[in-house]
Amino acid sequence: MLISRNIQRIKPSVTLAITARAKAMLAEGIDVVSLSAGEPDFDTPQNIKDAAIRAINQGFTKYTPATGILELRKAICKKFERDNGLAYDPSQVIVSCGGKHSIYLAILALVDEGDEVIIPRPYWVSYPEQVRIAGGNPVVLTPTKENGLKVSPQDLRSALTSRTKLLILNSPSNPSGIVYTRDELAALAEVVLEAGIYVLSDEIYEKIIYDGARHCSIASLVEGMVERTVVVNGVSKSYSMTGWRIGYAAGPEAVISAMGKIQSQETSNSCSIAQMAALEALTGPQDSVGAMIEAFDRRRRYIVDRLNSIEGISCPVPQGAFYVFPDVSSYYGFFHKGKRIEDSVDFCEFLLDEMKVACVPGAGFGMDTNIRLSYATSLENIEKAMDRIEEGLKKLQR
Ligand code: GLU
Repeated sequence: MLISRNIQRIKPSVTLAITARAKAMLAEGIDVVSLSAGEPDFDTPQNIKDAAIRAINQGFTKYTPATGILELRKAICKKFERDNGLAYDPSQVIVSCGGKHSIYLAILALVDEGDEVIIPRPYWVSYPEQVRIAGGNPVVLTPTKENGLKVSPQDLRSALTSRTKLLILNSPSNPSGIVYTRDELAALAEVVLEAGIYVLSDEIYEKIIYDGARHCSIASLVEGMVERTVVVNGVSKSYSMTGWRIGYAAGPEAVISAMGKIQSQETSNSCSIAQMAALEALTGPQDSVGAMIEAFDRRRRYIVDRLNSIEGISCPVPQGAFYVFPDVSSYYGFFHKGKRIEDSVDFCEFLLDEMKVACVPGAGFGMDTNIRLSYATSLENIEKAMDRIEEGLKKLQR
């Protein structure tokens, strides 16, 4: 076989695959409502676009240092200090081509062949695959039921082995929307320090949080944690800048410098123009962030109510991010046009093919009983999608 064994064992991103399929159907003139991608529907704020246009006009179109321009890394340090109580030097910060890329670089820098990486279920689709690309072994941890979908210190202890290198935490979580409290994170930090492992803390949804929940970075909590944590964040979600591909990470200097070494051989720097736009996002007016969160919150309440009003669907209220992750498994075993719905993939296929609503199967997130719907789209679209789902489920037969 032509393709390397390592790459043969990874799966393509299911979130991107479904989004592409929905876009292709739209291009064919099919009226699809897509609740698939985790991508804010708002335009990038004008001040940010202007900063990019200025950068182009001023000829800021050449290579930058591989880890990103100093001004942006300084602005990121200020952000960490202001929002998370974390003091970093710019040498402990790297700017990469999106949060996904920052995560990948951190995994490559930390994980050796055969190392185990603990990933709580449900997880974002790319974590296990990126660990596999690095030659590591993802160890998927199912939280005990009493804690809902949150990992307890006991859960974490039970997953540790002599090969454990890293724990990946994502709060607010994609896909579940859970947000860990300060105390919950502090208790996990104690176990991490005791075990001498590292944490990759994916905080990309930090700003998208509701009902008075508070985001807290595990790196800031217990003495010694900052040396054990790589914090990943970015501008994509908070500033509606998914296409600009700017993510960043902060952590121990040795880890960040290893990530910089990989990046220098891999992509050189992230786009110079997008870096200038990200600088404006972090240092310019912040009012657009609040306006987006208010809109997400209205959509969140609406979609949760609609889903829970459908018989057989149970949808917890997310505290953060812009996804709902309902359990739809009571429909498994039902038939449509003679075809049996066996799992979340069949369920989403039915919704897409028959009802023209695109959602992501929970199987991609390690939880086949559920599906993920993104509410980062207009209320009008969400209403249309919910009407179709409600209607469609009535057509299923036992
Ligand atoms: N993080 C978003 C999602 O989960 C964007 C797509 C991706 O990169 O997976 O939908």
